[in-house]
Amino acid sequence: MRPEVLFPLFKPVTSIPGVGPRMAKLVEKVAGDKVVDLCWHLPTGLIDRRFSPKVAEAPVGQVVTLTLQVDRHEKPGNQRSPYRVLCSDDTGFIALIFFSARDDYLRRILPEGATRVVSGTIEEFNGGRQMSHPDYVVSPEEKASIQIVEPVYPLTAGLSPKILTKAVRSALTVLPSLPEWLDRATLSRGGWSAWSDALRTAHSPEAITDLDPNARARQRLAYDELLANQLALALVRTRMRRAKGRPLKGTGDLCASLVALLPYQLTGAQKTAIAEILADLGSADRMLRLLQGDVGSGKTIVALHAMLTAVEEGAQAALLAPTEILARQHYETIRPFADALGIQVRLLTGRDKGKAREALLADLASGVVQLIVGTHALLQEDVAYNDLAVAVIDEQHRFGVHQRLTLSAKGGGPVDVMVMTATPIPRTLTLTAYGDMDVSRLTEKPPGRTPIDTRAVPATRMDEVVAGLHRAVENGAQAYWVCPLVEESEVLDVAAAEQRFAALQRQFGDRVGLLHGRMKPAEKDAVMARFSAGALSILVATTVIEVGVDVPNASIMVIEHAERFGLAQLHQLRGRVGRGSTRSSCILLYGSPLSETAQQRLKVIRDTDDGFVIAEEDLRLRGAGELLGTRQSGLPQFRLADVEMHGDLLRLAREDATAILKDDPALNSRRGEALRVLLYLFERDAAIRYLTSG
Ligand code: ADP
Ligand code: MG
Repeated sequence: MRPEVLFPLFKPVTSIPGVGPRMAKLVEKVAGDKVVDLCWHLPTGLIDRRFSPKVAEAPVGQVVTLTLQVDRHEKPGNQRSPYRVLCSDDTGFIALIFFSARDDYLRRILPEGATRVVSGTIEEFNGGRQMSHPDYVVSPEEKASIQIVEPVYPLTAGLSPKILTKAVRSALTVLPSLPEWLDRATLSRGGWSAWSDALRTAHSPEAITDLDPNARARQRLAYDELLANQLALALVRTRMRRAKGRPLKGTGDLCASLVALLPYQLTGAQKTAIAEILADLGSADRMLRLLQGDVGSGKTIVALHAMLTAVEEGAQAALLAPTEILARQHYETIRPFADALGIQVRLLTGRDKGKAREALLADLASGVVQLIVGTHALLQEDVAYNDLAVAVIDEQHRFGVHQRLTLSAKGGGPVDVMVMTATPIPRTLTLTAYGDMDVSRLTEKPPGRTPIDTRAVPATRMDEVVAGLHRAVENGAQAYWVCPLVEESEVLDVAAAEQRFAALQRQFGDRVGLLHGRMKPAEKDAVMARFSAGALSILVATTVIEVGVDVPNASIMVIEHAERFGLAQLHQLRGRVGRGSTRSSCILLYGSPLSETAQQRLKVIRDTDDGFVIAEEDLRLRGAGELLGTRQSGLPQFRLADVEMHGDLLRLAREDATAILKDDPALNSRRGEALRVLLYLFERDAAIRYLTSG
C-alpha cells in the first residue's frame, strides 16, 4: 500500500484549486491526471522579466518590464482596429495594444495619468514602439508581484500558460517532506539538495543553464527516477535468483535430433547462444537471459533448444508471444520438429474456448502436453502446468517485467526464463528495461541471404512502382504493401489501407489481400494463409505485419509514407523480405517535402542493414523517449531522466541499487524505508510486492 505521506501527490489534479474537470482534461494531456504528474512537468523554457530599460532603449522582440506614465486612451475607429493606450516615460512613447478588449476594464487597470508597470514583448509598428496585450499591468507598489523570471511549460491547445503555471505552483505547495533515500556520499558528490528543494528549484529556473538536463536540481530528480527503475529491476532479479533454479542438464538427445533435422547449419552466433543457454539451464542458478537478435537472425531455433532441454528432463516448456499471428507462426514452425521428435506441442490463444480449451488445460496440467505456445492466454489464472521448467518470452517489446514474472510463477518451482527480442535495443536502454539480465546476441545472419535493395522513391512516382510491381508479380514474386500509421487512430489507418487495397485491386484483381488490426482473428488467418500459399501476390497491410510473419517467397516490401515511420519500425518491416533466396527489394515511398530527420532516417535505412547500428542511430536521431514504438513497447518511459543525457547517472543508479540490496535485501533499514517511498513515488509498486512476499 502506498505510504500515507504520498497521498497528497497522488490526488487527482482536480484537487488543485482552480483546476476543474475541463482543465483537468487539458492538464492530463500534457502532464497526467495526478498532482505528482504536474510536479514532474518541468519547464522547457523561461521568460526573464528582469530587464527594465527605458522606452527608448527597449529592444524590439524582447521581453521587458517598463515603468510607464499612462497618457491617453484611444478607442478604435472601427471593429477591426485595436484599442490603444498611449504611454510614455522620459525617453519616449509606446502604445499598448489590445484587440477586442473591453474599454471599461482597460480604463480601470490603466487610468489616464497614473504610473503603471507593464511587462511584455516589444514590437515595432509604423516606426514606433508598441506592446500588444502586456502579460502584466500592475501599479508600482505591486511591481514585486510580477514574477521576475517565469518558467515556461509545454502546453497544449486551450491551456493557457498562466493557468498551467499557477496549477504547477499549487501542486508544489503540497509537496510533503519525504525521508531522504540517497546516501550522504551520493548527495555530496552531485552537490544535490533534498528532493523537495530540487523539485522546487527545477520549477524556478533563473537562467537558461538551469534548464539543462545536467543542472543540479534536474540531475537529482533524474537520478531518483533512475534509481527507482534500477532498484525495481534489481528487486525482481534478486527475488528470482533467490529461488534457486534446478539444474536442467538434459540428455542432449532431443537437441541433437533437432539439429539433425534442420535443413541448414546453425550459425556460429546461434551455436554460441545455445551453449550459453544450456550452461544457464544446467547450473543451479535460475536462468534470466535476454536473447537479442535482429529480424531473421534465427532466434526461434535457439529458443527451441532451451525448450527441448526441459522436455529431455521430463518437464515442460512454454513460449509466450505478443500476438496471435506470431504465436501461430511459432507454433507452425515448431510443430513439424515436435512431430518428428515425438513430442506433444499445443497452441493456446484467446480464441480457444469451452470444451476444447478445458481438454487442453487438462493435458497441460497432467503433463501430456510437453510444449505449449501461446499468447496472453497463457497467463490466465486457470492455466496450470504439471512441471513448467522453461519459459521463453518472445517479447518484441510488448511485455513488461510483470508478465515475465507471472509466467515464471506458474512453474510452482523455479522456472528458467529467456526473453527474446527482435528489435535490437541500444545497450543503455537494455539496462533500463531488463536490468542486468544476461545477454546473448545473435549478431550474425544465417548465410545465403542476399542483401535487400532499398530505395527511397517520392510518392509522385507511385505509378512507376506499381508498374514494376506488375512485372514482378507476373514473374511469380510476392509483395507486401504497408500503409502507415495515421496519428494514433486505428480507424484512419484502416481507411488508408482499405483505399490502397481498393486501388491495387483495380489493377491486380483478386491477387491482392488486405490485413489490418481490426479484422477478426479468423479473417486474418485466412488472409495470411492465402498469402503464404501463394494464392495472393500482394498483401496490403497496416503495421500489424511488423510483429512477425514469415513468408520466404515474399521479396518486395513497399512502405507507403515511409517518412512517418521510425527507424526501428522500418527495419522491422524490411526484415519481412529477404528471407528466401531470391533477390529482394524494399521501396520507401515518401511524401515531399521531407524534414531533415526524415531524410536522415531514410538515408540510414538505405545505407545499412545492421539492426544494432540502426538502433543506435535511432536513439541518436530521435532521443530515447521518442523511439518509435516506445509507448507500446514495454520499455520504461522516463519523466525526468533522459537515458541518452544521463547515461552516467544510470550506471551509478545501477551500482547504487545493487549495493543497497546487498546490505538490506528487504529494505528494512531506515534508508530502506525511504527507498520504499521512492519506489511508490515513481509507481514501481509492482516491485514492492516482491519484497514483501519474500
Ligand atoms: P527471428 O525469430 O530471429 O526473426 P527466425 O527464427 O524466425 O528468426 O528465423 C528466420 C528464418 O531463418 C526462418 O525461416 C528459419 O528457418 C531460418 N533460419 C534460422 N536459422 C538458420 C540458419 N542457421 N541457416 C539458415 N536459415 C536459418
Ligand atoms: Mg521469429
